[in-house]
Amino acid sequence: MIIAQQKPIKEIAAMIADCKKVLLAGCQGCVAVCLAGGDKETEILASALRIMRKLEGNPLEAVTYAATRQCDPEYIVPMDDLVKDVDAVISLACGVGVQYVAERYPDKWVVPALDTKFIGGSTVHGVWEEKCGLCGECILHRTGGICPIIRCSKSILNGPCGGSQYGKCEVSKDVDCAWQLIYDRMKALGRLDKMMEIQMPKDWSKSRDGGPRRAVREDVIIE
Ligand code: SF4
Ligand code: SF4
Repeated sequence: MIIAQQKPIKEIAAMIADCKKVLLAGCQGCVAVCLAGGDKETEILASALRIMRKLEGNPLEAVTYAATRQCDPEYIVPMDDLVKDVDAVISLACGVGVQYVAERYPDKWVVPALDTKFIGGSTVHGVWEEKCGLCGECILHRTGGICPIIRCSKSILNGPCGGSQYGKCEVSKDVDCAWQLIYDRMKALGRLDKMMEIQMPKDWSKSRDGGPRRAVREDVIIE
């Protein structure tokens, strides 16, 4: 899922300093799971902004809405009536959601409340780690299900490098060497011979085709 973190409240407040009424649009997708932009976080942010502005003697009217998700235009449509009479929309979605909201309401000031960080998952409650760098050409079948693009500090494809020491990466004793992990896993699987195959440089054109990436499933397209 997409991991995001809320911006400092002062930064968010500065973006809407000249507004009297705003809509805070939460998202119940990934950002709700990582406790950044769901229902609860949206209400808390709205309250905090109201209090802040009241203390400044410049009251703010803040209404809220929780979209099922903002990375799908159909779930933004129900916000139409709420958006009509606000000066700005504060989106608590990832960068995709913010852009969809801005596209739907071209005459509105749309601002992001979150910083979109990475693709990952939780390790323990309240901790998320990056797991995939969206390289466009997955090689996890060659690396025992461990991503060297993200988990190796140098993103090297034929590791380990000379900096690997006692299972740790040379950048920090707190960081596991990804290639040690890959080696251990391949050994346990009885597939160490696979590590002798030289992996050629990645074709990064599959990651960036000179513009925004698209994924198309012809079989489910409904015009
Ligand atoms: S190899 Fe590429 S697609 Fe696969 S997990 Fe790593 S970054 Fe993601
Ligand atoms: S020590 Fe391991 S994780 Fe660190 S850069 Fe070298 S191969 Fe990658």
